[in-house]
Amino acid sequence: MDFNLTEQELMIRTRAREFARKSVEPRAAEIDRTNEWPSDLVAEMAKSGLFGLQLPPEYHGSGAGYKCYALAIEQISQSSMTVAAIIAINALSEEAIYRYGSEEQKQTFLTPLARGEHTAMFAFTEAATGIDPKLITTRASPEDNCYILKGEKTFASLAPGARVAVIFAKDETENVSAFIVDPSSKGFVIAKCWEMMGLRGSGTCQLSLQDIAVPQKNLLGEKGKGYDILLLSINVGQLGICAEAVGTAQAALEMSLDYARNRPVRGKSMLQLPIIQSYIGEMASRIEAARWLTYKVAAMKDEGRNIRKDVAMAKLIASQTAVDVTGMAMQIHGSYGYTKDFPIERLYRDAKVTQIYEVVSEIQRIIVAASLMS
Ligand SMILES: Cc1cc2nc3c(=O)[nH]c(=O)nc-3n(C[C@H](O)[C@H](O)[C@H](O)COP(=O)(O)OP(=O)(O)OC[C@H]3O[C@@H](n4cnc5c(N)ncnc54)[C@H](O)[C@@H]3O)c2cc1C
Repeated sequence: MDFNLTEQELMIRTRAREFARKSVEPRAAEIDRTNEWPSDLVAEMAKSGLFGLQLPPEYHGSGAGYKCYALAIEQISQSSMTVAAIIAINALSEEAIYRYGSEEQKQTFLTPLARGEHTAMFAFTEAATGIDPKLITTRASPEDNCYILKGEKTFASLAPGARVAVIFAKDETENVSAFIVDPSSKGFVIAKCWEMMGLRGSGTCQLSLQDIAVPQKNLLGEKGKGYDILLLSINVGQLGICAEAVGTAQAALEMSLDYARNRPVRGKSMLQLPIIQSYIGEMASRIEAARWLTYKVAAMKDEGRNIRKDVAMAKLIASQTAVDVTGMAMQIHGSYGYTKDFPIERLYRDAKVTQIYEVVSEIQRIIVAASLMS
């Protein structure tokens, strides 16, 4: 496995960093403050070719691969985890349709997602579920040439802008199936958008599915195989979350270096204090470890390998790194870090979600252990 970045990977990393500095950085605090869906930035990201990096050209992706997908997310997350997460959450539905969709579904739904013209929500979670499919209560009942979807979903991100929804529901055989749903369908209601501690502006909402008629041809993959679709797709989302965590931690490190260099303590730069150097050394080392684990998993996915265990390991480490590094950065910034005048508190709040969404850290540990026990 070769970790030297290719010319294309370097080029995409630079493009994403420039986009983040020019377009995302100036908007990050406002998106966080208002919790508003940044539709203009989504359109700009599409123009910059930052969606569909991992998808092949026949579906209007760039064919650049999963490493480029991770590199772009890492760079954008240095400016705003929310904006980076839009790419990663969109990739859940992209992966589901790419791997399991019919040719017609790919042409109809995947190509506009890959071009960034449309974004998609991916709705599995319900009030009681976590990742347990047995607890799903949303029903898909066959009727004539369609399925009638009825139930409630929660924490569905990208809801305000989504033109496509991949929805998981129990069919009449009591198995979970996946459906591609048009959010403008009659009965599709965004009931409430959450006010969250972090990842604000990601449009994470509660959905009420009130007898939505979904054409039979929008069943995604085989009937009853929804949980397989969820697991495979979520691995790509988790890879994106690893990159979000690394990017956020890197931003916290750079802000800490800058702050400590310029903050005088007893006539010297704070950066001269051994305790601060110890924090910096710890932060940089842990970020590097998380980064290479992330790149390793991305490279494995590019090679077509199963990443379930490895992405669980990477997300466990990268998310803990983000939480710890942003905490150390907060400590280095002292009282200023605790104010809203400095971005550290946003990074600190954003970092926490990486241990929670798309499989909590406790279950990641179980997945790793289970892979060693079999
Ligand atoms: C910002 C954000 C965006 C999200 N976006 C989406 C989205 O787009 N689509 C979607 O479907 N969902 C989304 N989610 C939902 C998210 O993926 C789930 O909430 C997450 O998987 C955790 O599930 P839960 O909240 O039900 O936690 P629970 O399963 O209730 O777990 C709560 C806690 O219990 C413990 N626990 C639970 N199960 C176990 C176990 N088996 N072993 C040990 N400990 C355990 C852990 O400590 C865990 O943290 C989002 C959530 C957030 C916060």
